[in-house]
Amino acid sequence: PANKDIQVYIDGELLHRDEAKISVFDSSVQGGDAVWEGLRVYDGRVFSLNAHLDRLFDSAHALWFQGVPPRETVVEAIRQTLEANDMHDDVHIRLTLTRGRKITSGMDPRLNQAGCTLIVLAEHKPPVYPESITLATSSVRRNSPMSVDSKIHHNNLINNIMAKIEANQAGADAGLMLDKDGFVSEANGVNVFLIRRGKVRTPWADYCLPGITRATVIRLCNAHGIPCEEARLSPSEFYVADEVFTTGTMGELTRVRAIDGREIVNKYGGSVLEQVQEMFRELTRSAGTRLV
Ligand code: PMP
Repeated sequence: PANKDIQVYIDGELLHRDEAKISVFDSSVQGGDAVWEGLRVYDGRVFSLNAHLDRLFDSAHALWFQGVPPRETVVEAIRQTLEANDMHDDVHIRLTLTRGRKITSGMDPRLNQAGCTLIVLAEHKPPVYPESITLATSSVRRNSPMSVDSKIHHNNLINNIMAKIEANQAGADAGLMLDKDGFVSEANGVNVFLIRRGKVRTPWADYCLPGITRATVIRLCNAHGIPCEEARLSPSEFYVADEVFTTGTMGELTRVRAIDGREIVNKYGGSVLEQVQEMFRELTRSAGTRLV
């Protein structure tokens, strides 16, 4: 298999992937009680490193994690992992911070007395850029601040996984998730945008993860004079858009060609998406933090 001899960082140790294990008493096993980030390395540079670390620490703070390792430790862990694996390009890093090991099984965070568990898993993953993908609206709703705030990048992804299962059953590439009122929130693992008559729009971050790629797209549009706004958007506004696309660290900006069997037809002419994709490509090929 690919990446068969990689070294994985767990709490200060680099271990062969077959030896990289965490305790059955870890909070992530006991309750999916962890936060995570997916980062990407372009030509030796970690893209948006600080934005990812900010979101990781914010998520850990919101969930009352105790004994969170300092930023320097996390950065050093990423550096060591990249160095140990001699990884420079087309790298995907799955950074996980769990509440840590419990002294006995149970839900109570006070059972966590050993501090957090830090895992850095770096894998060589050449990007797959599909020409376009399809979406199917899921019956499973995205989390709301009434239950688990979507702004926390936690590991409780069961409803997103259920949306992906529905998409698989429907023969679509990803599930489009709605909020409790039926407005679009995001796809099961990426944010969504539409373009109509030259204007770029994306759902408010009330019910979606405020994605770093999403923020980058908004910033690029603003910097280049492309009208872009956050809005409350219904599924039918996506059906009739000129262009629809998803954003995420791994897939970057990916065109959506159909949603629930409705083909996305560009009635306006010209592609704003291709313009934004080019701006994004230029940015990722020049920005980022070099660690090794
Ligand atoms: N939404 C969800 C639910 C995700 O898990 C991710 C990937 N972390 C995204 C959106 C995309 O976020 P980003 O652009 O920060 O990768």
